[in-house]
Amino acid sequence: MTRSPGTGEGARGATAAPSHVPLVEVDLGPGVRAGFTTRAGGTSPAPWASLDLGLGVGDDPGRVRANRAAVSATLGEPVRFMTQVHGRGVLVADDAPPGVCDTLGEADALVATSGHALGVLVADCVPVLLADPERGLVGCAHAGRRGVELDVVGAAVDALVGLGARRDALRAVVGPSVCGSCYEVPEDMRAGVAAQVPQTWAQTRAGTPALDLPAGVAAQLLAAGVRRVEALGVCTLEDERFFSHRRDGRETPTGRFAGVVLHRGGARTARGDADGRVG
Ligand SMILES: [Zn+2]
Repeated sequence: MTRSPGTGEGARGATAAPSHVPLVEVDLGPGVRAGFTTRAGGTSPAPWASLDLGLGVGDDPGRVRANRAAVSATLGEPVRFMTQVHGRGVLVADDAPPGVCDTLGEADALVATSGHALGVLVADCVPVLLADPERGLVGCAHAGRRGVELDVVGAAVDALVGLGARRDALRAVVGPSVCGSCYEVPEDMRAGVAAQVPQTWAQTRAGTPALDLPAGVAAQLLAAGVRRVEALGVCTLEDERFFSHRRDGRETPTGRFAGVVLHRGGARTARGDADGRVG
């Protein structure tokens, strides 16, 4: 058979990325699409099988970009990622040039107005998704132990308020991450973190010292004024749908999954509206 080169699906079909991936969807209000990818639906072989979204974990960058493209296709907008450095820096995705790029820069939280899709990469650390659905504002944050110590989610909330969000209208979801029964740490580390954020104090099922980072993050969101905080209660180490550095990544590399969020309202609910109101 013959095909016209460069036209239609036929020319690209053999190497095209999957056009749709499974998402564990969560509710952050009207107009907001939010959820978490799983290991399923991608192109990467073991040990990254299969929807690895992390650049810099040893996987082929071409495959990672194809996997990211499939997530973007699922959301209908290019998902923008950051280079996560266990800090508390926040970037505004609106300020970035349009189109696909590997990273918006070094940060551990992203915020944006309507029409911008954001992604945070994890494999045991805590992914947080945020939205003020009325004003069409969204955010995401990456909180590992260091991020909890630095209150990165508080910084993300402040950045959203800076964009026009109302603190008491914000909603948050604390996504899949290693739980307090699995995240064993040295005693002095538990003592240090729990001195700052008491809700992180935990012990493993064997009674050894541990940290409950998702509980700490939820407490920090409430302290920042977010009234509606939902915790999925899914442990990445125990639930093999998700990548887990502690389970799989100690001797071989492992992949990264993503929390993604997008507000898909019209211009009515975007920045212009927020700017038009006082208070
Ligand atoms: Zn667990």
